[in-house]
Amino acid sequence: MSAGLVQAAYIVAALFFILSLAGLSKQESARSGNYYGIAGMAIALIATIFGPDSQGLVWIIVAMVIGGGIGIHFAKKVEMTEMPELVAILHSFVGMAAVLVGYNSYLDAPQVATHAEHVIHMVEVFLGVFIGAVTFTGSVVAFGKLRGIISSSPLNLPHKHKMNLAAIVVSTLLMIYFVKADGSMFALIVMTLIAFAFGYHLVASIGGADMPVVVSMLNSYSGWAAAAAGFMLANDLLIVTGALVGSSGAILSYIMCKAMNRSFVSVIAGGFGQEVVISGDVDHGEHREASAEEVAEMLKNSKSVIITPGYGMAVAQAQYPVHEITEKLRAQGINVRFGIHPVAGRLPGHMNVLLAEAKVPYDIVLEMDEINDDFSETDTVLVIGANDTVNPAAQEDPNSPIAGMPVLEVWNAKNVIVFKRSMNTGYAGVQNPLFFKENTQMLFGDAKDSVDAISKAL
Ligand code: NDP
Repeated sequence: MSAGLVQAAYIVAALFFILSLAGLSKQESARSGNYYGIAGMAIALIATIFGPDSQGLVWIIVAMVIGGGIGIHFAKKVEMTEMPELVAILHSFVGMAAVLVGYNSYLDAPQVATHAEHVIHMVEVFLGVFIGAVTFTGSVVAFGKLRGIISSSPLNLPHKHKMNLAAIVVSTLLMIYFVKADGSMFALIVMTLIAFAFGYHLVASIGGADMPVVVSMLNSYSGWAAAAAGFMLANDLLIVTGALVGSSGAILSYIMCKAMNRSFVSVIAGGFGQEVVISGDVDHGEHREASAEEVAEMLKNSKSVIITPGYGMAVAQAQYPVHEITEKLRAQGINVRFGIHPVAGRLPGHMNVLLAEAKVPYDIVLEMDEINDDFSETDTVLVIGANDTVNPAAQEDPNSPIAGMPVLEVWNAKNVIVFKRSMNTGYAGVQNPLFFKENTQMLFGDAKDSVDAISKAL
């Protein structure tokens, strides 16, 4: 393939990636968005592999078969609830790839015409390795936290913000030395070690409740790491793709910050995981329990019902019976709607994907802002496996780790039924006063079994 043809193919691939992002932004078009992405990636791979700069076709194919085989195996095996972990570990691969490309590009520097170009190349190498190393360890820690291997509570080292600042300042000085000394291997290695530690510390310092922001932020970092690799390899498509991922990840982080009422600037600066005072054991009083038959009766006597799903619905795979009872109630003229919190579940859009999978109509699935004022006119709310996203402590307790986070105000409804297995806390590890309110009843058990039982009783 000639260089001109490769460039043309890259432009077509970049257009497919843009169409893919546009498609993925709406549920109705998400499937076609995925196909555009696959088409773009196929064109990009073919153009790169058969382009004039590639050598060792056999090795490339061997690596692709091994890597592709491992990828297919894990992607097939992964449960929907494990998706965020998979995404986090995939981000770490992008980070490590940028580090390796950086070292390769340093050891096998391209021939350049001017001194200025040489300096630019060295800066590219240094920044690429730095971003890649931060992304790598940050993503590994995020993977550990999401999988429960690493504690989700924030690591609170003394002077943590000063340490982060020191890591950036020392790395900047090392970059100046690296360029002045015409590429000192020592400076590159020391900076890599600092960046690894920095990425680890940045994410380890963040508490469970802030994890959604971390996941989207690492998504953005992985994009910038790929763009940095693109500069080092002088590959335009990698620069464009990396910038698309980096900027869309940054926009997603901004949306997540707004949903969690966190400051975007402090997140970007790594200044979050603030020192919060964890409330001590407060006596919230007694909780009340209801049976599936009682809930079915309550639903039949309701005019309007709102269902607020959370992570527990995903674990139980309760979306199918939830759709079943929705249809049964709607057939009786009851107004049933869904209220989705932006960080419900463990992945942006997690609940929307599950409900779409179960064929719940899109027009009754509303965002938190669209539905929050309607709870006061609602007869029954079913909180199915949600906890942090319906926790009134976010509004009532300024010392709570989730203080200030907008939540679904389910307690304003006439009756609230909470589906869960125990009185355990949610992901943020905060007790939920909702469970003890006058108008709340608990329906204990696996969410799927409980919803099945209600469906039978209906
Ligand atoms: P939570 O994680 O707060 O709570 C889930 C609840 O589901 C738990 O209280 C659990 O209680 C219950 N549960 C678990 N399994 C089952 C089951 N099989 N049947 C019935 N209930 C079950 O969920 P939310 O969705 O309300 O909140 C999401 C949290 O995750 C937020 O803190 C958010 O910040 C965080 N997060 C979100 C991400 C995102 O991008 N959306 C990413 C990372 C973190 P019990 O054990 O008693 O059954």
